[in-house]
Amino acid sequence: MMQSIYGFTLDMLKEYMINLGEKPFRSSQIIEWLYRQQVRSFDEMTNISKSFIERLKQDFDLDLLECVTKQESYDGTRKFLFRLKDGNLIETVLMNNEYGYSACVTTEVGCNMGCVFCASGMKKKLRNLETSEIVLQVLTASILTGIKISHVVVMGIGEPFDNYDNVINFIKILNEPKGLEIGARHITVSTCGLVPKIYEYSEFPLQVNLAISLHAPNNEIRNQIMPINKSYPIEILFKAITDYIDKTNRRVTIEYILLQGLNDTVACANELANLLTGLNVYVNLIPYNEVKEKPYKRSKKEDMVKFFDILKKRKINVQLRREQGSDIDAACGQLRSKHIK
Ligand code: SAH
Repeated sequence: MMQSIYGFTLDMLKEYMINLGEKPFRSSQIIEWLYRQQVRSFDEMTNISKSFIERLKQDFDLDLLECVTKQESYDGTRKFLFRLKDGNLIETVLMNNEYGYSACVTTEVGCNMGCVFCASGMKKKLRNLETSEIVLQVLTASILTGIKISHVVVMGIGEPFDNYDNVINFIKILNEPKGLEIGARHITVSTCGLVPKIYEYSEFPLQVNLAISLHAPNNEIRNQIMPINKSYPIEILFKAITDYIDKTNRRVTIEYILLQGLNDTVACANELANLLTGLNVYVNLIPYNEVKEKPYKRSKKEDMVKFFDILKKRKINVQLRREQGSDIDAACGQLRSKHIK
């Protein structure tokens, strides 16, 4: 059966080659052809024997994702709508930052986490994305634009820790020194808080980053807006976060969307500071992008600034995130296909 070669890590390719009696070092050469030379046919792999190329052609395809539409924002943000082989549509965003371009990738078709403010959850999860479908978002976006992508955030549609194994293989492929060579420190996975996977992720040997979508300083509010909190309440979540920091020595990003009148009060800011004091974390305050079908409102500017100032005064590392690509519906949390009924 034909499958995408872009779902294969170096180790998987090695095993495939050893089983066929090929030299395992050839797998690095293939990775180079795929991700450095970005060949569009196996025939271009000139250091691979003709007979083995025939074998590769039988087993694998080199198809990129089909791009349905590509939009560009005034600020350089680009959004792609891709059609998968089974017809499902997914979105990918490229953001233009001072340090380079970062890609925001989707991990699932739809999402089952049901966060009440989020547009993605309005479509139930149909399936996980394959590793190749996640890798191909980065590769296709890069090939279509000629842009070299230096950073990747796993913050598009879906809960990455609900598709853990494929996301981990995706990271290994991105990080491959002979391939795209995206540094582990330039890769961030964001989760709504699937605690068992946070423990598992802390054992992952690459120096990748973790972001937690917190969005509330206590269980009372978090239970109202994030159903996952009923399975893994804040004290259990923070045990996992503390364990992660202890094991990896890495700073965790805490994402906090500011929702008017709900989690943006002075009391909430103080409670959040209490929760985070002494922990090696960095808080990203995110202006909420309003979703037509939802009743939630973005906090007023002065309330966002007040919230930020309280955290700052309490010596919490914090930034008020700037918004990108809002004119093309590519801003944080806005990814949802208007093309699907
Ligand atoms: N499921 C993962 C990753 C995808 S969501 C997670 O929950 O972290 C990426 C981030 O966008 C999350 O922090 C999510 O809560 C946030 N988000 C969702 N909808 C949003 C909206 N309308 N405005 C701003 N941020 C939003």
